[in-house]
Amino acid sequence: MTDDVELAAEFGTPLYVYRLDDVAEARKQLFDALPDEVELFYALKANPHPDLVRALREGEGRTCRAEISSTGELAAALTAGFRGEDCLYTGPGKTRGELDEAIAQGVRLFSTDSVTDVRHVGEAARARGVEVDCLLRVNSVAASATTSIRMTGTPSQFGFDSEVLADALPLLREVEGVRIAGFHFFPLSNATDEDNLIGEFEHTIELAARLSDDLDLPLRYLDIGGGFTVPYGAPGERPEYPKLRAALERALDLHLPRWRTGAPRVACESGRYLVGGSGTLVAGVTNVKVSRGRKFVITDAGINTFGGMSGLGRLLPVQVRPAEGDGPVEKASLVGPLCTPGDVLGRQIDLPPLESGDVVRVPNTGAYGPTASLLMFLGRPAPTEVVVRGDEVVSVSRIEHRRVPR
Ligand SMILES: *Cc1c(COP(=O)(O)O)cnc(C)c1O
Repeated sequence: MTDDVELAAEFGTPLYVYRLDDVAEARKQLFDALPDEVELFYALKANPHPDLVRALREGEGRTCRAEISSTGELAAALTAGFRGEDCLYTGPGKTRGELDEAIAQGVRLFSTDSVTDVRHVGEAARARGVEVDCLLRVNSVAASATTSIRMTGTPSQFGFDSEVLADALPLLREVEGVRIAGFHFFPLSNATDEDNLIGEFEHTIELAARLSDDLDLPLRYLDIGGGFTVPYGAPGERPEYPKLRAALERALDLHLPRWRTGAPRVACESGRYLVGGSGTLVAGVTNVKVSRGRKFVITDAGINTFGGMSGLGRLLPVQVRPAEGDGPVEKASLVGPLCTPGDVLGRQIDLPPLESGDVVRVPNTGAYGPTASLLMFLGRPAPTEVVVRGDEVVSVSRIEHRRVPR
């Protein structure tokens, strides 16, 4: 009994349903699109639910490593069975406390964004009497893709500006406790098409090889980032990347001819592609009203449940599926229960005729769901999250925040 609507009847709404079979399929699909030698980091940011993280770590075939960016994500990765040494720790604001904890837990690979960041990593490593590997995240001056969430090319808290690396390197080499192992690129997220994605990877690989030569910095590890896409809160399929594997092999053979024997080891990263398709958000309709001729469908899942990132200026493409089949649609706004006019999941979108007590399903909500939402805003409980494998319910849980004295 794992039908979304039946699960909602049993566990209440708002409800996220995650299907582990889909996570396994996405993992296989992405690994199949990458050369055999390429490693893949799962960015826990997309969804740190331990059951999903575990599904990316274990099972048949090639499995993921973990890309983490906080003590909380480290804990989620460890809970899911990753070891510290499986993790890449990233982020522009790593604190001493976080670094101490990560190193104590066995993390030995860090992406770094500035000279001071590398020094902080070095201090924490020396305090534990270990040496750790640092990747230099590169903010390249030029980038190739045009459509997507751009992450580089402009002033940024992320990465070393590529043009200052030559001056920075002598300072980095002096830092004890760290070895500069290579580069980390994450130039884009959510690339619109495969050619775009390939163009960006080719650019990245060429640049990495050129920087390595220019700086006389042999690469042991090269993380070329990601950009793999999946529909978000709207129907649609995970894209396939039929050309990617050959294109990556060609670019790597050309620019880094010893990559197949691990010089350097090459990695990619993905969050949304691996988990986005696994999730469905089931929301309950609490009320329907008409205001000045426009219809508002009020649900129990607002931006505290899904797409709180929309509060950061991104418009959600939310589309809803009726509980059953295809029927007539009408224009209405899908809004949440919060006391802010910003609590809109979709403005004047196509909705089936709905009334109080109905449920709606928002597909492809496995990534950037609860933890990317304004969970605490207006004091409503977090949505329940049900994890399903085949026809079995694996777990039912809910994130809880409490005020604690300290
Ligand atoms: C956010 C992020 C990811 C994951 O991005 P997706 O678009 O979800 O694949 C991967 N790597 C880094 C460094 C990130 O910041």
